Amino acid sequence: MNYAIDPAPVYSLAIANSDARFPVNRIFCVGRNYAAHAREMGRDPDREKPFFFMKPANATVPADGGETTIPYPPKTANFHHEIELVAVIGKGGADIPVERALEHVFGYAVGLDMTRRDIQLEARDKGRPWEFGKSFAKSAPIGPISRVADVGHLTEGRIAVSVNGAPRQDSDISKLIWSVAESIAYLSEYEALEPGDVIMTGTPEGVNAVVAGDVMIGEVAGLTPITVRVRGA
Ligand code: MN
Repeated sequence: MNYAIDPAPVYSLAIANSDARFPVNRIFCVGRNYAAHAREMGRDPDREKPFFFMKPANATVPADGGETTIPYPPKTANFHHEIELVAVIGKGGADIPVERALEHVFGYAVGLDMTRRDIQLEARDKGRPWEFGKSFAKSAPIGPISRVADVGHLTEGRIAVSVNGAPRQDSDISKLIWSVAESIAYLSEYEALEPGDVIMTGTPEGVNAVVAGDVMIGEVAGLTPITVRVRGA
């Protein structure tokens, strides 16, 4: 192909027990998918259907091979961690029924939906898009993918993140309001899923700020944990 400029790079994630890498297409994120987190954000979890926002592929930070570093982004004074179970799509499809949805999952990983909370909430309260709060470069550190073939499907187990060794978020993925299967089915009614799509399934309560130099350790039971440092000034 004769491109006029260099094409964008392919962003990819490691795969546990494999030399192959998973190429990232789009990143869909589920909003307020744990009741206690919806409440801490000032919303009623019982009255909302799932909703989604997106991050660009260049949000991807492969968090494998020990400690990974992300920059403290510009234009925020309230940079938050959101620990999330990540499901990645191996097989695309539209209007996927719930009972077939998990057939589209290639594997699972631990991820952080890093958020400029001050910008997000200002946008939310003004009825504007969340983009500058959520959709920025290097805002999605994600660990190695464990293949369904290796670990099966995850429906329960601890999800947690600590900062500098102190517990911050600590919950269980069984508390997801919309399961991985339900999220895939719902999303696929609005947008055909494609191989390489990544779904960040939402965060439990306890979101809070990090500052330069902080080290986050994120974990989901059964998956490879991630260690992510916020770069100092
Ligand atoms: Mn999130």
